[in-house]
This record gives sequence, structure tokens and C-alpha cells, in this order.
Amino acid sequence: MGGRLISLYVLVIRRRVLATIVLFLAWITVFGIVLANLLPERRLVVIDPGHGGIDGGTSGAGLLEKDINLKMSHILRQVLEKHQYQVIMTRTDDSDVSHFVPEGASRYRRDLRGRVKLIERVRPCGLISIHVNWHQDTWRRGAIVYYQRNEVSGRLLAEAIQKELNRIQQVQRQVRAADFYVLRNTRAPAVLVEMGFVSNPDDRVLLQDEVYLTRQADAIRLGLEAFLQHSAHPPQRSEPSLENPLSS
Ligand SMILES: [Zn+2]
Repeated sequence: MGGRLISLYVLVIRRRVLATIVLFLAWITVFGIVLANLLPERRLVVIDPGHGGIDGGTSGAGLLEKDINLKMSHILRQVLEKHQYQVIMTRTDDSDVSHFVPEGASRYRRDLRGRVKLIERVRPCGLISIHVNWHQDTWRRGAIVYYQRNEVSGRLLAEAIQKELNRIQQVQRQVRAADFYVLRNTRAPAVLVEMGFVSNPDDRVLLQDEVYLTRQADAIRLGLEAFLQHSAHPPQRSEPSLENPLSS
């Protein structure tokens, strides 16, 4: 009798242990899925080509900012993808992003809101908005990186990219704090790169030069890389590096 009772106990205990293990595994899975959705994708970048559609942005000597922004964004996308980044663009052609947001506000407002909505949906490790500058003083030139005022991660990303851009340009510029809708409303580290001044003759030549734009794109990529390595969530050591440092 006693032996049977013991084996019955063992059976019950075994079942309980099994149930506990299954429950534990289920919890880990659920926790992992929740965590994965909360954490930003480490190598996912959103490129935001400024303006588009009816909004041409600034212009100079027949050049429209929206067109330069789009061209540069495609180049940047290629550069980043070559280095194992996943890239999402807020627009890939000459259109605005207002269709993401229901009617009500002005198309300009809806366009900006649409961009923010898209960025929040994918939770990238960085947002790079691409623009072209203009100034009435035509001697002003050079790429400048902007970040949202009081945003520490944005400032660090901006500084890292500016440092790389300064290596390839004649004028040495410094990052600037500003208040931009897309930067202000994005949780990811966000910067706005003004690639150069369309009002300056020398910059205008460079802004049409694909070789130079590719160098700028690579500078942005290097800045992003440096930022991600030094940010609060460093890449895991155990993960092998996907890129060969000698190849760049
Ligand atoms: Zn612009």
C-alpha cells in the first residue's frame, strides 16, 4: 500500500514539476516578446527625406531641396544597407507623407505627423532627417547637424555625425540645437542633417555630385556607428561583428 501511495505522489510531483517548467517557459516567451517590442531595433534606421510632393522645400539656381533630399536619402540607404543596417524611408518617391494621417489639419501638418507616426511604429535605433540649407549670405556653406534642444541622445548622435562630416568638408561646422517637429516628437535618437547650402555656389556643385553625396553618406554612417558603440545600449560583445573594418 505504502509503495503505491509513494509512486502516486511521485507521479503527481512529476506532473507539477512539468507544469511549472512549461509555465516558466511560457512566461519567458511572453516576456521576451514584450521586451523585444519595447526595445528599439539595434540596427534599424529610419531615413526621412525632407519635404516632397507639393512641398519643395528651399531652392536655388533651379534646384529643389526635395529632389536633392530624396537622391541623398537613396544613397544613404544603399550605404547603410551595405553595412548590414535595416533601413526604412518615410518616403521613397516625390510624395508627401500626409496620407498616413486622417483629414482635419493642413496637409503640411499631416505630412509631419505622418512621418512621426511611421517612426514610432517601427522603433528604430536612429532617425536621420535629410535636408538642404539656404541663407541670404551666400558665403555660408557646409553641412550642419541639428538635434532637438535638451535631447541628450540626439545631441550625441549629432556630434558624432558632425565630427565625421567635418573630416570631408573645408569649413568646420558645429552641431546646433533647434526645435523641429519631427525631432521633437520622436523617441529614437534623432538628427536633422542639412547637407549644405543651396544658396552657396560651391555647395551647390557638391550637392549635385553623387561622389560627394556618397562620401557624406558614409560620414553619416560612421557617425552613427560611433554613436551606437558609445550609447547606453552598447552592442553585445558575444555577437560577432558583421562588418570587416578593413573593407571600409
Ligand atoms: Zn528642409
